[in-house]
Amino acid sequence: MFAEVIIDIKNKQVNKSFDYIIPTYLEGILHVGCRVKVPFGKLKRTGYILKTKESTEVTRGLKEIDEAIDLKPVLNEEFIKLAEYISIHDFSFYATSLETMIPQALRMKYEKTIKWVTNSLDESLQKHFKTKKEISFNTIPKELEPILFKEIKLGNLVIDSRIKRVRKEKYITYVHFNSEKVGIPSSKKGMDLLSYLEEINEDIDINSLMNDSGYSKNVIDTLAKNGFIDLYKKEIEPEEDIKNYIDKEVSLNRMQEDVYHSLKLGNEKTYLLHGVTGSGKTELYMRWIKDSIHSGKEALMLVPEISLTPQITAIFYARFKENIAVLHSRLTISEKYEQWKRILNGDVKIVVGARSAIFAPLKNLGIIIVDECHEASYRQSNNPKYSAIDLAKIRSHTYNCPLVLGSATPNAEDYFRAIHGEYELLSLPKRANGRELPKSIVVDLREELKNGNRTPLSNILKEEIIKCYRNHEQSILFLNRRGYSSFVQCRNCGEVVKCPHCDISLTYHGKTNTLKCHYCGYQISNVMKCEKCGSDKIRYVGSGTEKLYEAVKNILPEAKVLRLDTDTVAKMEDYENIYHEFKEHKADILVGTQMVTKGLDFENVTLVGVANADIALHYPTFDANQVAFNLIEQVAGRAGRAKKDGKVIIQTYDPNNYVIECAKNHDYEGFYKKEILFRKASSMPPFSEPIEIEVIGKNLGETKKEAIHIANALRGVSINSIILGPTEAYIFKKKDLYHYVILVQAKEDIVLDKIQYIYPLYQNNKDITISITRKWL
Ligand code: ADP
Ligand code: ZN
Ligand code: ZN
Repeated sequence: MFAEVIIDIKNKQVNKSFDYIIPTYLEGILHVGCRVKVPFGKLKRTGYILKTKESTEVTRGLKEIDEAIDLKPVLNEEFIKLAEYISIHDFSFYATSLETMIPQALRMKYEKTIKWVTNSLDESLQKHFKTKKEISFNTIPKELEPILFKEIKLGNLVIDSRIKRVRKEKYITYVHFNSEKVGIPSSKKGMDLLSYLEEINEDIDINSLMNDSGYSKNVIDTLAKNGFIDLYKKEIEPEEDIKNYIDKEVSLNRMQEDVYHSLKLGNEKTYLLHGVTGSGKTELYMRWIKDSIHSGKEALMLVPEISLTPQITAIFYARFKENIAVLHSRLTISEKYEQWKRILNGDVKIVVGARSAIFAPLKNLGIIIVDECHEASYRQSNNPKYSAIDLAKIRSHTYNCPLVLGSATPNAEDYFRAIHGEYELLSLPKRANGRELPKSIVVDLREELKNGNRTPLSNILKEEIIKCYRNHEQSILFLNRRGYSSFVQCRNCGEVVKCPHCDISLTYHGKTNTLKCHYCGYQISNVMKCEKCGSDKIRYVGSGTEKLYEAVKNILPEAKVLRLDTDTVAKMEDYENIYHEFKEHKADILVGTQMVTKGLDFENVTLVGVANADIALHYPTFDANQVAFNLIEQVAGRAGRAKKDGKVIIQTYDPNNYVIECAKNHDYEGFYKKEILFRKASSMPPFSEPIEIEVIGKNLGETKKEAIHIANALRGVSINSIILGPTEAYIFKKKDLYHYVILVQAKEDIVLDKIQYIYPLYQNNKDITISITRKWL
């Protein structure tokens, strides 16, 4: 027997499978979806079996599988196809896509034990194991393997896969990469470990880190001692409190009732549920999920990570009891693994989780729901660069089940599809409790300047904040920029202090009295004199959340003000602390970045201030207007959710911009009509499907040369496709690397094929990095 194997070579794209001989003792044991160790080049590599077969066309150099990692498949055919789709459609690595689909625990070092009924073994074998009843797989003498596996096939031996170091503890130590630390570690090992941490880009528990990277506790401790990483302990929270929550099912209102009945289970339609903030979408999701369960099927619901608050978790647990697995980032690796096994075994019927929950191994899906479907976090930005919504469509097709995309502010692309019949549009134009959406006032910041007000708060906003505080109500102030001021400039010569490694200005942080680069973490103490002309007239331009916080404290020194941004929230726990404090009205005012715009449901909030609505408008992306509109509308939706009316104050230098006007009136349709005209005029999605190829390198000339080379190669095979660039990226230099961008609108398959070959072409090139991204959802 032979196996087609996809080989995992870290950070390399090997999307072609290789044939290997299945050793006879593993025949009938290794199946599609099992992982194996195979010889590849000089090394042993992990591989995934895509197919087993009785013949091969390979005639020379055929090698044998070395070792079985799994004796039961960890991936089924559905996921293998899904990974293949990601590798082709999203220009990602096949092996990395497969790896993403299995729980982290299974990716760590494995250990298997064989238990056997002693009597069933023949004597020659028994004498090898006289002393033990169980034996670790890894210590079986090679020559005994064939005999042992024969026994397994006969059913005389029981095999048990166990994961090392996965156990329940009260505390787990987590490692947090401190991106703000200046300098580099003195040891090579320390540097390697740091770049490893930077690459995985999330906090990781210390055991997995040691397992995955192979570095010792010593290296980690040294890094922690020198401030490159932080170690913190996380208590494994008891789920008891959550389970004590009492749920009551409300009766649907007329609008909800209509929408509820419009959805039909048992077909693969995509529904766009456009419902204003607070319109009761969650209640509908839960009804449909219940119906799906009653029809004997399963349900999958995706939410943005930040919405996975204990609150929503509690509601779902209360309603669905043991039937549900909630996958959130507070789970430990072993808990995630437990949940995965429960899902795989069919013990749970409902899965709620963030982006990666799209890979939940449910086998009988009856409905898929994606809440807040406009959220960019449904796309993974590093390899494999899949879109969870895209994959949700494929799974909905596979299971012939409906997909519901829910949002108060759908992306123009999705609304376009709904209007043109590709999706079915369902609308909830009013709030469920009958409250009006909050009234908005637009404040022209140019007038404030004219009147000599240079603080981040207009006079109207100041008055409203004070009024709100006096009424014992809470307010939320949103500003899309952290730090104190956005940049520092010399009044005499105009020089702006920039990051030496990046093409952007440094941000002043008042608390630490430092200037920081928000891209690479570079940090210096605040400058007193201009580097260029020596003048000491330094000006702090623009405002960040720190300055906004200070301005609020200035007008209301007695109020309790909280700040919510990445400077105050290093980990999920911090977020939850701030969340609870505000929720329980232990604080009056919440100042923060995007984090305050998402999904928060505080009943006592009656005022929302958007400190500068223009920041998001000026990003050089085709959907900047959409993102700005969404942000304003979402944060506005935090006001007046319960018994009292809400009010929104939008501060802007551009009050006549359609984004601001429509957001003021909560006029999604009006916004959409303007936005879609703009998209059409500029040939942007949904009227095109751009692919962005980034060419990144240290040497400017070399990087540019390669970028031109790639663009020309694409032009060489294209007749109708549009290939723009290379041009310098919006932020041309980041972390000492130059970024060139080529934008492709592929109209021919040959152009797509050519793009597929770019990664392999550069994978041995140490100077150039390629990053390919589909720019539409
Ligand atoms: P959305 O997800 O659309 O923002 P939610 O589902 O969170 O809205 O509902 C907002 C609030 O309205 C919640 O507190 C919810 O319990 C309540 N609600 C939902 N449906 C009804 C209803 N039919 N009658 C009364 N209250 C409702
Ligand atoms: Zn100067
Ligand atoms: Zn920088």
